[in-house]
Amino acid sequence: MEPIVDLDFIDNRTPEQAAAAACDTHVTKETNTGKSRKLYIESYGCAMNFSDSEIVSSIMFEQGFDTTSDIADADVVFLNTCSIREKAEQTVRNRLGQINYHKKKNPGMVVGVLGCMAERLKKTLLDEEKIVDLVVGPDAYRDLPNLINEVDGGQKAVNVLLSREETYADINPIRLNSNGVSAFISIMRGCDNMCSFCVVPFTRGRERSRDAHSIVREAEALVAQGYKEVTLLGQNVDSYKWASEDGTDKVNFAQLLEMVALLSTDLRVRFSTSHPKDITDEVLYTMKKYDNICKYIHLPAQSGNSRVLELMNRTYDREWYINRVDAIRNILGEDCGISSDMIAGFCTETEEEHQDTLSLMDYVQYDYSYMFFYSERPGTLAARKLEDDIPLEVKKRRLDEIIQKQRETSLNRNKRDIGKVHRVLVENFSKKSDEQLSGRNDQNKVVIFDKKHYKKGDYVNVFVHDCSVGTLFGEAVD
Ligand code: SAM
Ligand code: SF4
Repeated sequence: MEPIVDLDFIDNRTPEQAAAAACDTHVTKETNTGKSRKLYIESYGCAMNFSDSEIVSSIMFEQGFDTTSDIADADVVFLNTCSIREKAEQTVRNRLGQINYHKKKNPGMVVGVLGCMAERLKKTLLDEEKIVDLVVGPDAYRDLPNLINEVDGGQKAVNVLLSREETYADINPIRLNSNGVSAFISIMRGCDNMCSFCVVPFTRGRERSRDAHSIVREAEALVAQGYKEVTLLGQNVDSYKWASEDGTDKVNFAQLLEMVALLSTDLRVRFSTSHPKDITDEVLYTMKKYDNICKYIHLPAQSGNSRVLELMNRTYDREWYINRVDAIRNILGEDCGISSDMIAGFCTETEEEHQDTLSLMDYVQYDYSYMFFYSERPGTLAARKLEDDIPLEVKKRRLDEIIQKQRETSLNRNKRDIGKVHRVLVENFSKKSDEQLSGRNDQNKVVIFDKKHYKKGDYVNVFVHDCSVGTLFGEAVD
Protein backbone atom coordinates (compact mmCIF):
# COMPACT_ATOMS: atom_id res chain seq x y z
CA MET A 1 0.00 0.00 0.00
CA GLU A 2 1.33 3.43 -0.90
CA PRO A 3 1.95 5.91 1.95
CA ILE A 4 -0.59 8.66 2.05
CA VAL A 5 0.60 12.15 1.27
CA ASP A 6 -2.18 14.22 2.70
CA LEU A 7 -0.88 17.72 3.16
CA ASP A 8 -2.55 20.28 5.35
CA PHE A 9 -1.24 23.24 3.47
CA ILE A 10 -1.76 24.50 0.00
CA ASP A 11 1.38 24.84 -1.97
CA ASN A 12 1.85 26.65 -5.23
CA ARG A 13 5.24 25.16 -6.06
CA THR A 14 6.32 22.19 -8.07
CA PRO A 15 6.51 18.80 -6.37
CA GLU A 16 10.32 19.04 -6.59
CA GLN A 17 10.37 22.23 -4.56
CA ALA A 18 7.77 21.04 -2.10
CA ALA A 19 9.73 17.84 -1.52
CA ALA A 20 12.82 19.89 -0.78
CA ALA A 21 11.60 21.53 2.34
CA ALA A 22 7.93 21.68 3.27
CA CYS A 23 5.51 19.29 4.97
CA ASP A 24 5.93 16.02 3.15
CA THR A 25 6.26 12.28 3.59
CA HIS A 26 9.48 10.34 3.05
CA VAL A 27 9.92 6.58 3.08
CA THR A 28 13.18 4.77 3.87
CA LYS A 29 15.31 3.49 1.03
CA GLU A 30 16.69 -0.06 0.94
CA THR A 31 20.09 -0.56 2.58
CA ASN A 32 20.29 -4.37 2.02
CA THR A 33 23.58 -5.13 3.72
CA GLY A 34 22.47 -8.56 4.91
CA LYS A 35 21.28 -7.66 8.42
CA SER A 36 18.83 -10.05 10.05
CA ARG A 37 15.91 -7.66 10.58
CA LYS A 38 14.27 -4.94 8.49
CA LEU A 39 13.22 -1.44 9.47
CA TYR A 40 10.73 0.70 7.55
CA ILE A 41 10.44 4.41 8.47
CA GLU A 42 7.91 6.88 7.19
CA SER A 43 8.86 10.46 8.07
CA TYR A 44 6.35 13.31 8.17
CA GLY A 45 6.77 17.08 8.39
CA CYS A 46 9.91 19.11 8.03
CA ALA A 47 13.51 18.53 6.97
CA MET A 48 14.52 18.23 10.65
CA ASN A 49 12.38 15.09 10.87
CA PHE A 50 13.85 13.61 7.70
CA SER A 51 17.29 14.29 9.12
CA ASP A 52 16.32 12.63 12.43
CA SER A 53 15.17 9.50 10.57
CA GLU A 54 18.70 9.20 9.18
CA ILE A 55 20.04 9.25 12.76
CA VAL A 56 17.45 6.67 13.84
CA SER A 57 18.41 4.40 10.91
CA SER A 58 22.05 4.64 11.91
CA ILE A 59 21.28 3.66 15.53
CA MET A 60 19.07 0.78 14.34
CA PHE A 61 21.69 -0.36 11.82
CA GLU A 62 24.13 -0.90 14.69
CA GLN A 63 21.39 -2.95 16.34
CA GLY A 64 21.08 -5.32 13.36
CA PHE A 65 18.51 -3.62 11.13
CA ASP A 66 18.66 -2.91 7.41
CA THR A 67 16.16 -0.40 6.08
CA THR A 68 13.46 -1.38 3.60
CA SER A 69 11.14 0.66 1.39
CA ASP A 70 8.47 -2.05 1.48
CA ILE A 71 6.32 -2.01 4.61
CA ALA A 72 5.16 -5.58 3.93
CA ASP A 73 8.78 -6.68 4.33
CA ALA A 74 9.37 -4.89 7.66
CA ASP A 75 9.96 -6.35 11.13
CA VAL A 76 9.77 -2.86 12.64
CA VAL A 77 7.73 0.09 11.34
CA PHE A 78 8.40 3.61 12.60
CA LEU A 79 6.34 6.69 11.88
CA ASN A 80 8.47 9.78 12.57
CA THR A 81 5.75 12.30 13.18
CA CYS A 82 4.89 16.00 13.07
CA SER A 83 2.55 17.87 15.44
CA ILE A 84 2.74 21.31 13.93
CA ARG A 85 -0.89 21.40 12.79
CA GLU A 86 -3.87 19.27 13.81
CA LYS A 87 -4.14 17.81 10.32
CA ALA A 88 -0.54 16.53 10.48
CA GLU A 89 -1.47 14.44 13.53
CA GLN A 90 -4.69 13.24 11.93
CA THR A 91 -2.69 12.06 8.91
CA VAL A 92 -0.55 9.88 11.18
CA ARG A 93 -3.59 8.46 12.98
CA ASN A 94 -5.17 7.53 9.63
CA ARG A 95 -1.92 5.93 8.58
CA LEU A 96 -1.81 3.84 11.77
CA GLY A 97 -5.24 2.51 10.75
CA GLN A 98 -3.81 1.44 7.38
CA ILE A 99 -0.75 -0.14 9.03
CA ASN A 100 -3.11 -2.29 11.11
CA TYR A 101 -3.80 -4.18 7.89
CA HIS A 102 -0.11 -5.14 7.64
CA LYS A 103 0.11 -5.99 11.32
CA LYS A 104 -2.82 -8.39 11.01
CA LYS A 105 -0.91 -10.24 8.28
CA ASN A 106 2.33 -10.07 10.27
CA PRO A 107 1.44 -10.04 13.99
CA GLY A 108 5.12 -9.93 15.03
CA MET A 109 5.57 -6.54 13.37
CA VAL A 110 6.64 -3.84 15.87
CA VAL A 111 5.01 -0.42 15.37
CA GLY A 112 6.65 2.69 16.84
CA VAL A 113 5.64 6.34 16.84
CA LEU A 114 8.63 8.69 16.97
CA GLY A 115 9.14 12.45 16.98
CA CYS A 116 6.90 15.36 17.88
CA MET A 117 3.59 13.54 18.19
CA ALA A 118 5.23 10.95 20.47
CA GLU A 119 6.58 13.77 22.62
CA ARG A 120 3.27 15.64 22.74
CA LEU A 121 0.97 12.71 23.50
CA LYS A 122 3.39 10.48 25.41
CA LYS A 123 1.83 7.38 26.99
CA THR A 124 -1.71 8.33 25.94
CA LEU A 125 -0.75 7.30 22.40
CA LEU A 126 -0.42 3.71 23.64
CA ASP A 127 -3.89 3.90 25.16
CA GLU A 128 -5.49 5.56 22.14
CA GLU A 129 -3.78 3.61 19.35
CA LYS A 130 -3.73 -0.07 20.32
CA ILE A 131 -1.51 -0.98 17.38
CA VAL A 132 1.40 1.10 18.77
CA ASP A 133 4.13 -0.80 20.70
CA LEU A 134 6.69 1.95 21.11
CA VAL A 135 6.59 5.74 21.73
CA VAL A 136 9.89 7.60 21.46
CA GLY A 137 10.53 11.36 21.69
CA PRO A 138 13.12 13.21 19.58
CA ASP A 139 15.81 13.23 22.29
CA ALA A 140 15.54 9.51 23.18
CA TYR A 141 16.71 7.79 19.99
CA ARG A 142 19.89 6.45 21.60
CA ASP A 143 17.61 4.41 23.85
CA LEU A 144 15.96 2.65 20.86
CA PRO A 145 18.01 -0.58 21.22
CA ASN A 146 16.79 -1.00 24.84
CA LEU A 147 13.24 -0.06 23.93
CA ILE A 148 13.19 -2.56 21.05
CA ASN A 149 14.46 -5.23 23.47
CA GLU A 150 11.62 -4.41 25.85
CA VAL A 151 9.10 -4.77 23.03
CA ASP A 152 10.74 -8.02 21.89
CA GLY A 153 10.20 -9.22 25.48
CA GLY A 154 6.47 -8.59 25.14
CA GLN A 155 6.22 -5.14 26.79
CA LYS A 156 5.12 -1.80 25.43
CA ALA A 157 7.88 0.83 25.69
CA VAL A 158 7.98 4.62 26.09
CA ASN A 159 10.82 7.14 26.36
CA VAL A 160 9.93 10.77 25.89
CA LEU A 161 12.59 12.38 28.06
CA LEU A 162 13.82 15.67 26.63
CA SER A 163 17.46 16.59 27.02
CA ARG A 164 19.40 19.84 27.34
CA GLU A 165 22.52 18.30 25.79
CA GLU A 166 21.63 15.68 23.19
CA THR A 167 22.72 16.69 19.67
CA TYR A 168 23.58 13.22 18.27
CA ALA A 169 26.88 14.85 17.24
CA ASP A 170 28.80 11.57 17.10
CA ILE A 171 26.20 9.63 15.10
CA ASN A 172 26.92 9.16 11.44
CA PRO A 173 23.52 9.44 9.72
CA ILE A 174 22.55 6.90 7.04
CA ARG A 175 21.58 9.09 4.08
CA LEU A 176 18.02 7.99 3.37
CA ASN A 177 16.61 11.21 2.00
CA SER A 178 19.40 11.99 -0.33
CA ASN A 179 19.75 11.86 -4.08
CA GLY A 180 23.51 11.44 -3.61
CA VAL A 181 24.01 15.11 -4.49
CA SER A 182 22.62 17.06 -1.55
CA ALA A 183 22.31 16.19 2.14
CA PHE A 184 20.93 17.71 5.33
CA ILE A 185 23.15 18.40 8.33
CA SER A 186 21.45 19.09 11.62
CA ILE A 187 23.40 21.85 13.42
CA MET A 188 21.15 22.41 16.42
CA ARG A 189 18.07 21.00 18.11
CA GLY A 190 15.05 22.40 19.92
CA CYS A 191 13.86 25.99 20.11
CA ASP A 192 13.77 28.63 22.86
CA ASN A 193 11.52 31.09 21.07
CA MET A 194 8.02 30.34 22.32
CA CYS A 195 6.08 31.73 19.36
CA SER A 196 2.57 31.62 20.77
CA PHE A 197 1.11 29.41 17.99
CA CYS A 198 3.90 26.84 17.97
CA VAL A 199 4.20 23.43 19.56
CA VAL A 200 7.91 22.92 18.70
CA PRO A 201 9.40 24.20 21.99
CA PHE A 202 7.21 21.63 23.79
CA THR A 203 7.95 18.71 21.48
CA ARG A 204 11.62 19.32 20.74
CA GLY A 205 12.77 20.94 23.96
CA ARG A 206 15.39 23.59 24.67
CA GLU A 207 17.68 24.95 22.00
CA ARG A 208 21.18 23.44 21.88
CA SER A 209 23.93 23.85 19.31
CA ARG A 210 25.98 20.95 18.05
CA ASP A 211 29.80 20.88 18.26
CA ALA A 212 31.01 22.95 15.30
CA HIS A 213 33.88 20.59 14.55
CA SER A 214 31.57 17.57 14.34
CA ILE A 215 29.47 19.53 11.80
CA VAL A 216 32.54 20.33 9.72
CA ARG A 217 33.67 16.67 9.89
CA GLU A 218 30.24 15.53 8.68
CA ALA A 219 30.35 17.99 5.77
CA GLU A 220 33.91 16.91 4.96
CA ALA A 221 32.86 13.24 4.84
CA LEU A 222 30.01 14.16 2.50
CA VAL A 223 32.41 16.00 0.18
CA ALA A 224 34.67 12.93 0.17
CA GLN A 225 31.67 10.80 -0.84
CA GLY A 226 30.94 13.11 -3.78
CA TYR A 227 28.10 15.20 -2.35
CA LYS A 228 27.81 18.67 -3.88
CA GLU A 229 25.42 20.45 -1.54
CA VAL A 230 24.71 20.55 2.19
CA THR A 231 21.83 22.26 3.97
CA LEU A 232 22.54 23.26 7.57
CA LEU A 233 19.34 22.75 9.55
CA GLY A 234 17.91 24.27 12.70
CA GLN A 235 14.67 25.94 13.83
CA ASN A 236 16.59 29.20 14.20
CA VAL A 237 20.05 28.83 12.67
CA ASP A 238 21.00 32.44 13.38
CA SER A 239 21.05 31.76 17.09
CA TYR A 240 23.54 28.89 16.61
CA LYS A 241 26.21 29.35 19.25
CA TRP A 242 28.69 26.68 20.28
CA ALA A 243 31.58 26.90 22.75
CA SER A 244 34.11 24.29 23.80
CA GLU A 245 33.93 23.15 27.42
CA ASP A 246 36.77 25.44 28.53
CA GLY A 247 35.22 28.33 26.58
CA THR A 248 38.33 29.01 24.48
CA ASP A 249 36.75 27.91 21.20
CA LYS A 250 33.56 29.81 20.27
CA VAL A 251 31.64 29.62 16.99
CA ASN A 252 28.59 31.63 15.91
CA PHE A 253 26.46 30.94 12.83
CA ALA A 254 28.36 33.26 10.48
CA GLN A 255 31.62 31.59 11.52
CA LEU A 256 30.15 28.11 11.09
CA LEU A 257 28.91 29.02 7.60
CA GLU A 258 32.42 30.17 6.73
CA MET A 259 34.03 26.98 8.12
CA VAL A 260 31.74 24.81 5.97
CA ALA A 261 32.07 27.01 2.87
CA LEU A 262 35.86 26.79 3.07
CA LEU A 263 35.82 22.98 2.78
CA SER A 264 35.46 23.03 -1.01
CA THR A 265 34.55 25.67 -3.59
CA ASP A 266 32.61 22.86 -5.31
CA LEU A 267 30.31 22.38 -2.31
CA ARG A 268 27.16 24.47 -2.20
CA VAL A 269 26.10 25.53 1.27
CA ARG A 270 22.46 26.24 2.14
CA PHE A 271 20.76 26.77 5.49
CA SER A 272 17.30 26.95 7.00
CA THR A 273 15.50 28.48 8.93
CA SER A 274 16.50 32.10 9.58
CA HIS A 275 14.61 33.98 12.27
CA PRO A 276 14.04 37.67 11.42
CA LYS A 277 14.91 38.73 14.98
CA ASP A 278 18.33 37.04 14.86
CA ILE A 279 19.66 37.25 11.29
CA THR A 280 22.72 39.52 11.41
CA ASP A 281 24.58 41.60 8.85
CA GLU A 282 27.60 39.41 9.70
CA VAL A 283 25.72 36.41 8.24
CA LEU A 284 24.76 38.44 5.15
CA TYR A 285 28.36 39.59 4.59
CA THR A 286 29.61 36.01 5.01
CA MET A 287 27.11 34.92 2.35
CA LYS A 288 28.38 37.69 0.09
CA LYS A 289 32.03 36.73 0.65
CA TYR A 290 31.68 33.11 -0.52
CA ASP A 291 30.33 32.25 -3.97
CA ASN A 292 29.44 28.74 -2.79
CA ILE A 293 27.05 29.96 -0.05
CA CYS A 294 23.73 30.05 -1.89
CA LYS A 295 22.04 33.42 -2.14
CA TYR A 296 18.73 32.30 -0.77
CA ILE A 297 17.19 33.00 2.65
CA HIS A 298 14.10 31.43 4.17
CA LEU A 299 12.93 34.25 6.44
CA PRO A 300 9.44 33.44 7.77
CA ALA A 301 7.39 36.57 8.48
CA GLN A 302 4.18 34.75 9.64
CA SER A 303 2.23 38.05 9.40
CA GLY A 304 2.71 41.55 8.02
CA ASN A 305 0.97 43.26 10.92
CA SER A 306 2.78 44.42 14.06
CA ARG A 307 -0.11 43.82 16.47
CA VAL A 308 -0.55 40.24 15.20
CA LEU A 309 3.22 39.67 15.35
CA GLU A 310 3.17 40.76 18.96
CA LEU A 311 0.32 38.36 19.75
CA MET A 312 2.33 35.65 17.99
CA ASN A 313 5.26 36.53 20.28
CA ARG A 314 7.58 36.76 17.28
CA THR A 315 9.54 39.56 19.05
CA TYR A 316 9.87 41.72 15.93
CA ASP A 317 7.45 44.08 14.21
CA ARG A 318 6.71 44.92 10.58
CA GLU A 319 9.34 47.68 10.51
CA TRP A 320 12.06 45.41 11.91
CA TYR A 321 11.19 42.74 9.33
CA ILE A 322 11.33 45.26 6.48
CA ASN A 323 14.66 46.52 7.80
CA ARG A 324 16.07 42.97 7.58
CA VAL A 325 14.74 42.55 4.03
CA ASP A 326 16.29 45.91 3.07
CA ALA A 327 19.61 44.74 4.57
CA ILE A 328 19.43 41.56 2.43
CA ARG A 329 18.75 43.62 -0.69
CA ASN A 330 21.51 46.16 0.14
CA ILE A 331 24.17 43.58 0.95
CA LEU A 332 23.26 40.69 -1.37
CA GLY A 333 21.36 42.51 -4.10
CA GLU A 334 17.97 42.14 -5.79
CA ASP A 335 18.71 38.63 -7.03
CA CYS A 336 18.96 37.05 -3.57
CA GLY A 337 16.04 34.64 -3.16
CA ILE A 338 13.76 35.22 -0.17
CA SER A 339 10.95 32.92 0.97
CA SER A 340 8.55 33.02 3.89
CA ASP A 341 6.07 31.12 6.02
CA MET A 342 2.69 32.83 6.44
CA ILE A 343 -0.18 32.06 8.80
CA ALA A 344 -3.68 33.20 7.81
CA GLY A 345 -6.39 33.89 10.37
CA PHE A 346 -4.41 33.96 13.61
CA CYS A 347 -6.48 34.80 16.72
CA THR A 348 -8.28 38.19 16.48
CA GLU A 349 -6.72 39.07 13.09
CA THR A 350 -8.86 41.74 11.37
CA GLU A 351 -9.37 42.19 7.62
CA GLU A 352 -7.07 45.26 7.71
CA GLU A 353 -4.38 43.25 9.48
CA HIS A 354 -4.72 40.51 6.88
CA GLN A 355 -4.26 43.21 4.21
CA ASP A 356 -0.97 44.11 5.92
CA THR A 357 0.26 40.56 5.23
CA LEU A 358 -0.63 40.98 1.55
CA SER A 359 1.08 44.39 1.38
CA LEU A 360 4.22 42.96 3.04
CA MET A 361 4.24 40.29 0.33
CA ASP A 362 4.01 43.05 -2.29
CA TYR A 363 6.92 44.85 -0.65
CA VAL A 364 9.24 41.86 -0.29
CA GLN A 365 8.33 40.08 -3.55
CA TYR A 366 8.96 36.62 -2.11
CA ASP A 367 10.21 33.96 -4.49
CA TYR A 368 7.88 31.56 -2.71
CA SER A 369 6.19 30.88 0.59
CA TYR A 370 4.84 28.06 2.70
CA MET A 371 1.32 29.13 3.56
CA PHE A 372 -0.99 27.82 6.26
CA PHE A 373 -4.16 28.75 8.07
CA TYR A 374 -3.92 28.90 11.84
CA SER A 375 -4.47 25.60 13.62
CA GLU A 376 -4.74 25.82 17.40
CA ARG A 377 -2.36 23.43 19.16
CA PRO A 378 -3.08 22.27 22.72
CA GLY A 379 -0.67 23.58 25.36
CA THR A 380 0.71 26.47 23.31
CA LEU A 381 0.62 30.04 24.63
CA ALA A 382 -2.07 30.97 22.08
CA ALA A 383 -4.26 28.00 23.03
CA ARG A 384 -4.04 29.02 26.69
CA LYS A 385 -4.43 32.79 26.34
CA LEU A 386 -6.14 33.66 23.04
CA GLU A 387 -9.44 32.76 21.47
CA ASP A 388 -9.26 30.93 18.12
CA ASP A 389 -12.03 33.23 16.90
CA ILE A 390 -11.60 33.45 13.13
CA PRO A 391 -14.17 31.19 11.40
CA LEU A 392 -12.66 28.43 9.27
CA GLU A 393 -14.16 29.75 6.04
CA VAL A 394 -12.59 33.19 6.73
CA LYS A 395 -9.20 31.58 7.46
CA LYS A 396 -9.45 29.63 4.22
CA ARG A 397 -10.46 32.68 2.19
CA ARG A 398 -7.57 34.71 3.64
CA LEU A 399 -5.19 31.83 2.95
CA ASP A 400 -6.43 31.68 -0.61
CA GLU A 401 -5.72 35.42 -1.02
CA ILE A 402 -2.22 34.89 0.36
CA ILE A 403 -1.68 32.02 -2.10
CA GLN A 404 -2.89 34.11 -5.02
CA LYS A 405 -0.55 36.92 -3.98
CA GLN A 406 2.33 34.47 -3.76
CA ARG A 407 1.58 33.10 -7.23
CA GLU A 408 1.77 36.68 -8.51
CA THR A 409 5.12 37.47 -6.83
CA SER A 410 6.64 34.06 -7.71
CA LEU A 411 5.81 34.69 -11.35
CA ASN A 412 7.23 38.26 -11.17
CA ARG A 413 10.42 36.95 -9.63
CA ASN A 414 10.74 34.05 -12.10
CA LYS A 415 10.23 36.39 -15.07
CA ARG A 416 13.27 38.37 -13.88
CA ASP A 417 15.32 35.20 -14.37
CA ILE A 418 14.45 34.88 -18.06
CA GLY A 419 17.27 35.83 -20.43
CA LYS A 420 19.98 35.10 -17.84
CA VAL A 421 22.44 32.22 -17.42
CA HIS A 422 22.03 30.31 -14.13
CA ARG A 423 24.45 27.87 -12.53
CA VAL A 424 22.37 24.76 -11.87
CA LEU A 425 23.29 21.74 -9.77
CA VAL A 426 21.64 18.71 -11.39
CA GLU A 427 19.67 16.61 -8.90
CA ASN A 428 17.65 14.23 -11.02
CA PHE A 429 15.75 13.56 -14.21
CA SER A 430 12.78 15.83 -14.73
CA LYS A 431 9.57 14.24 -13.41
CA LYS A 432 8.05 14.44 -16.89
CA SER A 433 10.83 13.10 -19.09
CA ASP A 434 14.08 11.17 -18.87
CA GLU A 435 15.35 13.34 -21.71
CA GLN A 436 15.36 16.34 -19.38
CA LEU A 437 17.22 17.08 -16.17
CA SER A 438 16.05 18.90 -13.07
CA GLY A 439 18.27 20.88 -10.74
CA ARG A 440 18.27 24.05 -8.68
CA ASN A 441 19.93 27.38 -9.14
CA ASP A 442 21.58 29.40 -6.40
CA GLN A 443 18.22 30.89 -5.37
CA ASN A 444 16.75 27.40 -4.83
CA LYS A 445 14.53 27.54 -7.93
CA VAL A 446 13.90 24.39 -9.93
CA VAL A 447 15.35 24.59 -13.44
CA ILE A 448 14.45 22.06 -16.17
CA PHE A 449 16.55 21.65 -19.32
CA ASP A 450 17.42 19.08 -22.02
CA LYS A 451 19.81 16.43 -20.79
CA LYS A 452 22.46 16.46 -23.56
CA HIS A 453 25.57 14.84 -22.03
CA TYR A 454 24.96 16.14 -18.49
CA LYS A 455 24.20 13.99 -15.46
CA LYS A 456 23.23 14.08 -11.79
CA GLY A 457 25.77 15.98 -9.67
CA ASP A 458 27.04 18.18 -12.54
CA TYR A 459 27.08 21.96 -12.33
CA VAL A 460 25.58 23.21 -15.60
CA ASN A 461 25.25 26.76 -16.94
CA VAL A 462 21.65 27.06 -18.14
CA PHE A 463 20.22 29.91 -20.20
CA VAL A 464 16.65 30.40 -18.98
CA HIS A 465 14.12 31.21 -21.73
CA ASP A 466 10.76 30.55 -20.04
CA CYS A 467 9.11 30.08 -16.66
CA SER A 468 5.97 29.06 -14.86
CA VAL A 469 4.97 30.01 -11.29
CA GLY A 470 7.10 27.19 -9.86
CA THR A 471 9.77 26.38 -12.45
CA LEU A 472 12.36 27.88 -14.79
CA PHE A 473 12.92 26.30 -18.22
CA GLY A 474 16.17 26.64 -20.15
CA GLU A 475 18.93 25.30 -22.35
CA ALA A 476 22.39 24.19 -21.23
CA VAL A 477 25.16 26.43 -22.58
CA ASP A 478 28.82 25.37 -22.54
N1 SAM B 1 11.38 27.72 13.18
C1 SAM B 1 10.77 28.20 12.02
C2 SAM B 1 10.48 29.70 12.14
O1 SAM B 1 10.34 30.21 13.23
O2 SAM B 1 10.31 30.32 11.15
C3 SAM B 1 9.48 27.49 11.69
C4 SAM B 1 9.26 26.13 12.08
S1 SAM B 1 7.63 25.51 11.97
C5 SAM B 1 8.07 23.85 12.01
C6 SAM B 1 7.16 25.78 10.30
C7 SAM B 1 6.01 26.71 10.11
O3 SAM B 1 4.80 26.11 10.49
C8 SAM B 1 6.02 27.99 10.89
O4 SAM B 1 6.90 28.94 10.36
C9 SAM B 1 4.58 28.44 10.81
O5 SAM B 1 4.33 29.22 9.66
C10 SAM B 1 3.84 27.12 10.69
N2 SAM B 1 3.09 26.84 11.92
C11 SAM B 1 3.60 26.56 13.13
N3 SAM B 1 2.61 26.39 14.04
C12 SAM B 1 1.45 26.57 13.35
C13 SAM B 1 0.08 26.54 13.73
N4 SAM B 1 -0.30 26.32 14.98
N5 SAM B 1 -0.85 26.78 12.77
C14 SAM B 1 -0.48 27.02 11.49
N6 SAM B 1 0.79 27.06 11.09
C15 SAM B 1 1.75 26.85 12.01
FE1 SF4 C 1 8.20 27.44 16.48
FE2 SF4 C 1 8.85 30.02 16.69
FE3 SF4 C 1 10.61 28.14 17.37
FE4 SF4 C 1 10.00 28.51 14.80
S1 SF4 C 1 11.00 29.99 16.14
S2 SF4 C 1 10.12 26.55 15.89
S3 SF4 C 1 7.84 29.03 14.91
S4 SF4 C 1 8.68 28.57 18.40
